[in-house]
Amino acid sequence: MKRMERRSIAVLALALALAIGLGFFLLRLARSGGDWAAYTANEHVYRLGRLQCGTLTDRNGAVLLRAEDGVYTYAPEETVRRASLHAVGDEAGYMGGTALSLFGRELVGWSFWNGTDGRGGTVALSLDSRLQAAAWDALNGRSGAVVLMDYTTGEILSMVSAPAYDPAAGAELDREGVLVNRCTGAAMAPGSVFKLVTLIAAYENLPDLQSRRFVCEGSAMVGGEELACVKKHGSQTVETALCNSCNVAFGELAVELGGECLRATAERLGLLEALEIDGYRTAPGTFDVAPRGSSLEAWSGIGQYHDLVTPYAMARLCAAIANGGAAREGSLRRGARTPTAELMPPATAEYLDQCMNYTGYYGYRALFPGLDMGAKSGTAELGDGTDHAWMVGYLRSGPPLAFAVAVEHGGWGLYDAGPVANAVLQKAVEIYAND
Ligand SMILES: [Zn+2]
Repeated sequence: MKRMERRSIAVLALALALAIGLGFFLLRLARSGGDWAAYTANEHVYRLGRLQCGTLTDRNGAVLLRAEDGVYTYAPEETVRRASLHAVGDEAGYMGGTALSLFGRELVGWSFWNGTDGRGGTVALSLDSRLQAAAWDALNGRSGAVVLMDYTTGEILSMVSAPAYDPAAGAELDREGVLVNRCTGAAMAPGSVFKLVTLIAAYENLPDLQSRRFVCEGSAMVGGEELACVKKHGSQTVETALCNSCNVAFGELAVELGGECLRATAERLGLLEALEIDGYRTAPGTFDVAPRGSSLEAWSGIGQYHDLVTPYAMARLCAAIANGGAAREGSLRRGARTPTAELMPPATAEYLDQCMNYTGYYGYRALFPGLDMGAKSGTAELGDGTDHAWMVGYLRSGPPLAFAVAVEHGGWGLYDAGPVANAVLQKAVEIYAND
């Protein structure tokens, strides 16, 4: 009898161990099965690292990429194919942070009950093909980046990087930097759009800022060297100095605040770290602290010296200003509601919003007809006689959109990047005004 009991207990213990083991496996399958299925060595869905099935659409259901038996079909319009290449992904998988790589699990179409059925799943991206095309056309063959995001949700409605090849015609890998997504994968000299950082640092550290006058004689001596401005701006408030984009005023502020303070501010605003978009880490920016009181310190506060930022990080900063200081992290997924990061207190955001309200300043109405916009332009001198042209900002009414446009070696911020921003925003207002 005793023996029977011992045997029963042993069998029970064995059955229990099996049940626990099976339960543990099922739990892991439910949790990680999609990742296992989407693992690039799984030959049912990947062959030579290439996804065999799955569909990516834009936010309105227009197909951006369909994979069937490993054959890729991109959007029917060439402009949309080129404009969306970096966000959607290339056939060879050379590009980073693409929807193809970020959403592999869902594209594979894995489910707990059916596993992978070979047909693949569909992922709706946040991109709008019409805005992609508008941005591509506005860049008009120039290298550069356009980012447009909904600052209330984090959804990225447009992400265009040029140059890009037509994936339907085959890869053109000989074009310089064609694999780099200039929105997220490369940090560029920001020029005067960086004055927003210096203004934020000044607002938060200099209590008498708004009662001061800044006198610009067209240039000033800083650290024994001449700091040149575009023109003689005369006596200005700091708000007017931002609209004038006065180098003298902001160079002097930079030296008064010091490089350490500027670096800490840029860091808090997310310009120096790798930011996350659906799990992808963007390129970090740089800000080197120059010697105290030097002309380099002044230049570092006006977006020159060694300053580098990504267009995406600038769009995110503008999104935070528009959204009362809190930035939604970007996402390429339609319907995303990403976590927020508090970049600045609401009072700082409100002050920046007042300062960035362009209405009434230099050619605003003619360049951006009908748009109620907070913005800053930038012209980053590269030392080779060319300049990167920047325009960053957000809509103050209408659809809740923040943007960054950078045109490489593009010339003047307001007059060369400005029209690209205008083209995309006009299209967005046309599409979303009645939503
Ligand atoms: Zn000036």
